[in-house]
Amino acid sequence: MKWEGQEQSGNVEDRRQLGRKGLAIGGGGAVLVLLLGYVFGVNPDLIKQFLGNVPNEGQQAQKRPPTVEEERSRAFVSTILKFTESVWHDQFRKAGQSYEAPRLVLFAEEVRTGCGTAPSAVGPIYCPADKTVYLDPTFFEELERKLGGSKAEFSQAYVIAHEVGHHVQNLLGYSGIVDQKRRTLSKEEYNKWSVRLELQADYLAGVWAYHGQKRFNFIEPGDIEAAIKSANAIGDDRLQKRSSGFVSPEAFTHGSSAQRVRWFRQGLQTGDLSMLKKIFEMPYGDL
Ligand SMILES: [Zn+2]
Repeated sequence: MKWEGQEQSGNVEDRRQLGRKGLAIGGGGAVLVLLLGYVFGVNPDLIKQFLGNVPNEGQQAQKRPPTVEEERSRAFVSTILKFTESVWHDQFRKAGQSYEAPRLVLFAEEVRTGCGTAPSAVGPIYCPADKTVYLDPTFFEELERKLGGSKAEFSQAYVIAHEVGHHVQNLLGYSGIVDQKRRTLSKEEYNKWSVRLELQADYLAGVWAYHGQKRFNFIEPGDIEAAIKSANAIGDDRLQKRSSGFVSPEAFTHGSSAQRVRWFRQGLQTGDLSMLKKIFEMPYGDL
């Protein structure tokens, strides 16, 4: 994927330098408490431990400098986010609407979101309440291992575009429709809607790639295959097989690998947004 040197989004916040779990010692306050500690003869290490658990609410949290690798992943993610902003601004304008870009937070281990605290293990997430994507880039290393070590930046871009797809669904009202169903339907019936929403987000990732390619020409040979491989690797059936050894379709919330590949590919081939509504209206068995 060709991305280096392209414009970056200003909507990325990097919390990885804030220390464990994205929490940090507040600059001035920490120095003051440490000072008081020395004055009163309390073991400073104990105080540091305590301070380490103080949530960071202020803007002046002390950050360590980013590593070279962190700088690179931040640049990559900011560039991909900018690609999504350009495409979705365009598409919304064409539909007579205006696009409100999401924020994206990079974190390590655990993060506080407008939807609650999330551990890294859940993978990248989008929180509709604060319109923010949360991403621990070590997820990409795992993805790479799953794909047999092939370095594929376009697969990572696909993952980001899928999360931004959830944001687009939020703006267009699709997430709201599914959220309503959560309250009225049985778990099994609701899961089907959740799958529909996930496949629509995959479709949106494909639509993004279609229009992004036209405008930025960022796809290189092998990229599409790599993204399809990762869509294949992160389907619910694969995830379940790995974790429990069996697959139970009624517990699917993301769709099967084959479904994810199919909808991503369709978006990529057509770039057609009029399909969004159809994805919500077609019989579940046809997805
Ligand atoms: Zn999703």
